[in-house]
Amino acid sequence: DVRREKELRDAEAAAEKNILLTSVEKFLNWGRVHSFWPCSFGLACCAIEMASSGDPRYDLSRFGYEVFQASPRQADLMIVAGTLTRKMAPIARRIYDQMPEPKWVIAMGNCACSGGPFADSYAVVPGADSIVPIDVYIPGCPPRPESLMFGMLHLKQKIQNPAKARLIKHVK
Ligand code: SF4
Repeated sequence: DVRREKELRDAEAAAEKNILLTSVEKFLNWGRVHSFWPCSFGLACCAIEMASSGDPRYDLSRFGYEVFQASPRQADLMIVAGTLTRKMAPIARRIYDQMPEPKWVIAMGNCACSGGPFADSYAVVPGADSIVPIDVYIPGCPPRPESLMFGMLHLKQKIQNPAKARLIKHVK
């Protein structure tokens, strides 16, 4: 009858307003992308800019990303900040392997992206992606703290919405 139909319509409208449908993975990612725990290590000059990003001037903690972890077992983000030498490469890989899943890697600076000014050196790995899988590349020599923050926010987009992340990459 008419009254019953009206009740059903009201119930559907209330459900649309008040029930949130999602998957467990999406819900977990929502928490992860608002609290990356980066691994606390740096390789060269870019690491100074990475450290600066946590100071009061740049305030990385605005995004919830400031809890740098001394143990890779408590970290979910590796920031390869600096020149990756061949001597250091196995150690970087071991640190990556010790991080629990899910985990992500940012290549910060020209050296980490492609070897930078040392790409032709016998002692330097010409791009950290030959050692660990990279999710976001941040060029620059060195990139400023704002660039690192942009890269971390880009990683957030990439995890939450891969299609939108590709769009941002294209625009940049
Ligand atoms: Fe140093 Fe430039 Fe290499 Fe960064 S990209 S580690 S600033 S030489």
